[in-house]
Amino acid sequence: MSDKHEIPAGDDASPPLVGDFGRFGGRYVSETLMPAVEELAREWPRAWRDAAFQREYHRILRDYVGRPSPVSDAPRLSDDLRDRAGVDARVLLKREDLNHTGAHKINNCVGQVLLARRLGKTRIIAETGAGQHGVATATACAYFGLPCVVYMGAEDVARQSLNVARMRMLGAEVRPVHAGSATLKDAINAALRDWVATVRDTHYVIGSVMGPDPYPAMVRDLQRVIGDEARAQCLERVGALPDAVVACVGGGSNAMGIFAAFLGDPGVRLFGVEATGEGVASGRHAATITAGREGVYHGMRSLVLQTDDGQLQEAHSISAGLDYPGIGPEHARLHADGRARYLGVSDLEALDAMEWLARREGIIPALETAHAIAALPAIVRALQRESRARPDGPLRVLVNVSGRGDKDMHTYMQRRDPAALVMIGAREGGRRDD
Ligand SMILES: *Cc1c(COP(=O)(O)O)cnc(C)c1O
Repeated sequence: MSDKHEIPAGDDASPPLVGDFGRFGGRYVSETLMPAVEELAREWPRAWRDAAFQREYHRILRDYVGRPSPVSDAPRLSDDLRDRAGVDARVLLKREDLNHTGAHKINNCVGQVLLARRLGKTRIIAETGAGQHGVATATACAYFGLPCVVYMGAEDVARQSLNVARMRMLGAEVRPVHAGSATLKDAINAALRDWVATVRDTHYVIGSVMGPDPYPAMVRDLQRVIGDEARAQCLERVGALPDAVVACVGGGSNAMGIFAAFLGDPGVRLFGVEATGEGVASGRHAATITAGREGVYHGMRSLVLQTDDGQLQEAHSISAGLDYPGIGPEHARLHADGRARYLGVSDLEALDAMEWLARREGIIPALETAHAIAALPAIVRALQRESRARPDGPLRVLVNVSGRGDKDMHTYMQRRDPAALVMIGAREGGRRDD
């Protein structure tokens, strides 16, 4: 964007793309939605450059979300890593699990609802798969006093009763979507249909670095507070930048948020970890970088899981937050350029890593985050092979702990502690919520 003269309001020229991701990204929406998307593309860069907007956003992050989140050393995990991988590494954990609502998603939601208020919107809509983004959006709406409608596939409503109850308690209306397979992609379609009819007063909060421009760039900007904090904390704690930064990738927002601060540091290797579920060969996975092909989906050009005849392929992962058939266009770009590398971790490996971090560091991570933890042995071995091992001390590896694991205990118990599940089932009348 140029900073020359701002054209007065009322200009109808199509604004340039806010996110330039080479052949990925773009603005693939219907005629009816184009004005709303273009309004955002005009207004987001202005808001982001406005000192008053920045002050308010950072005040909310401090007073309400609880930022800055700390960086914790993980000495016992690092010891294990030496035993398992034979590599001397110092693991540092960026603790997004300590945020209000237990994950990074709230950073994006408070920022987008703040923007909606600035634009004079009086109503918020969102779509949600497992419910985590719906809960974060409902939280931000309660904080700002705006009405909130969350579209959710009817299948997901049935599976995620706890998150549905949370959204309702927060005052949001949850609208079950019965069309199609009654899951996330159908909820996205329903939210878009609502937006077409209500764009004048409604803002659509997208939950990851996905969708038509400017969403991928906007959500990255709102999440880069993770990387900005972590970079400064690492310099202060260790006196140097990390050798590698590691994050799990669903749509890719927690990863883009931490990567963004290190893109200009060529010595810092970036690793994204996606879910291979039950194995790529099984077809039940969410490994979009590994197995996806280029296509247009959800308003953007990116990598997408699709069948041979170009139909959208349902994703699978044990962690609901990684269970998405697309990936943000900036990740597709970073992958194509080789600036970031992407690895896969299976359901079983993630369950093991959840226990690993819990038992060695006293931190129960979200199953999404557990994918990033599980990849650590392979990552430090790769760094060592590429003779990145440093003569002056251990490798420094910064991992984004995107969220805490309370929400995943039921899934965990089903797989690893069924006796505990029986006890809870007896008390709660056999609740199932995943
Ligand atoms: C939603 C979620 C993710 C995946 O979303 P991204 O946009 O890829 O960050 C990862 N971790 C947690 C804890 C989540 O709730």
